[in-house]
Amino acid sequence: MDASLLAERITLLGPVLRARFGGPVAKIGREAGLGCPNRDGTLGRGGCAYCPPRASGRGQGRSSITQQLEQGLERLASRAARAGRDMPRLLAYFQAHTSTHAPAGRLAPLFEEARAFPGLAGLVVSTRPDCLDPPRWDLLSHLAERLPLWLELGLQSAHEPTLAAINRGHGLACFDAAVAQARARGIEVVAHIILGLPGEGLEQTNSTARHLAGLGLWGVKMHNLMVLEGAPLAANFAAGGFTPWGLEQWAEAAAHFLARLPRQTVIHRLVADPGPERLLAPDWAAHKDLALKALAGYMLEHDLRQGDSCQNTP
Ligand code: SF4
Repeated sequence: MDASLLAERITLLGPVLRARFGGPVAKIGREAGLGCPNRDGTLGRGGCAYCPPRASGRGQGRSSITQQLEQGLERLASRAARAGRDMPRLLAYFQAHTSTHAPAGRLAPLFEEARAFPGLAGLVVSTRPDCLDPPRWDLLSHLAERLPLWLELGLQSAHEPTLAAINRGHGLACFDAAVAQARARGIEVVAHIILGLPGEGLEQTNSTARHLAGLGLWGVKMHNLMVLEGAPLAANFAAGGFTPWGLEQWAEAAAHFLARLPRQTVIHRLVADPGPERLLAPDWAAHKDLALKALAGYMLEHDLRQGDSCQNTP
């Protein structure tokens, strides 16, 4: 089964970006070193259950934004040269932890430094829906007026009991309000979702998709639940508190989730990258290619495409 079959059935990010920017683009993950408000007590303590303390940070916060972009540019250039491909344009991705966890006055020079990087194609800002006040919204709006920018907001599930169980520290209404605020300001939003959270099955996954379908999101980034060393969930897993989904269960849920999203919603990711943290479970999550093939196989076998079951568009 060729995973490229997915491209015929799903609105994937790569072709959308290529059309928008007139050629290849690549995200370079930037770390602003702002930490996490769900750990430091600003919004909560303990962090989200699935998130190890390092989150997706790489300690880059000690380098300036310009230095990080220069290093990323060098890596991209040598990768493109090795592959004989055109050099992509850059998107600066403020990704690690919570990228708006500071007053607007402290964020502005960080984002402006990235904006001023020669040849930058755009900015991507990843954050929590409860970490945006009016001055920070104004800052993002001002940036979005001057270069392409999209906002990535973590939700993970549209189910309040799940949000409480994973210690997200915010509810669904908070997420919906942030999406509405962004849309009113003309800022595109990508929702982050995790399939396979403890206590969830097909019913919850489908209703999360139905909810997202009604919000007018530009994109959705899907993750499969991974139990990572150091995350609060690891202790629950070790104690036998839950069993992660098998590959077939995930593929079925992912296919039906996609079928309930509007066809025009851009899918930024189908499967999570295990990253540098140690994966404890499930084993299949270490093999992204297997997961993509399982998803393609399920969608083909059941003749499913993104949007096929979508009944809830804004
Ligand atoms: S997912 Fe984000 S908000 Fe939650 S603990 Fe990790 S860094 Fe903090």
